[in-house]
Amino acid sequence: MAIRTIIKEGDPNLRKICRPVEKFDQRLWDLLDDLKDTLHYITGLGLASPQVNVLRRAVIVEYEDMYYELVNPVLLHSEGECLDNEGCLSVGDCRGIVKRPQKIEIEYFDRFGEKHNLKAEGYFARVILHEMDHLDGILFIDKMVRRIDTRRGR
Ligand code: ZN
Repeated sequence: MAIRTIIKEGDPNLRKICRPVEKFDQRLWDLLDDLKDTLHYITGLGLASPQVNVLRRAVIVEYEDMYYELVNPVLLHSEGECLDNEGCLSVGDCRGIVKRPQKIEIEYFDRFGEKHNLKAEGYFARVILHEMDHLDGILFIDKMVRRIDTRRGR
């Protein structure tokens, strides 16, 4: 296990469509373990594989007591909408207000290739959708309705 380098906005690999995971093997497990180590090291709520320069459809989300490894996630259903603020480990000193659905249902595979469904709402749903956007080369700054400058804060 290892801490990997997070690539930053401006790197073209953050803008690519990631390819599905096809093999649920040691290589995937190492990637997921490294994503977790990296997320713990820098403290965040989620991390997507392309952020560590691996263009595969895998993300991790750690929110309150929940930890999920989402491989090849697909949005099945969404409803409602809400505004809240987001930041990104690949986007420096900027947070922004982004509109997202209030409730979602997704389908995904775990690290062993088993398929699951997951329902999420509120900020948990937001984190999942933020990470899933990374798999399609989308950053929250593309969607934000207002920028929040945090350079003077924290
Ligand atoms: Zn992000």
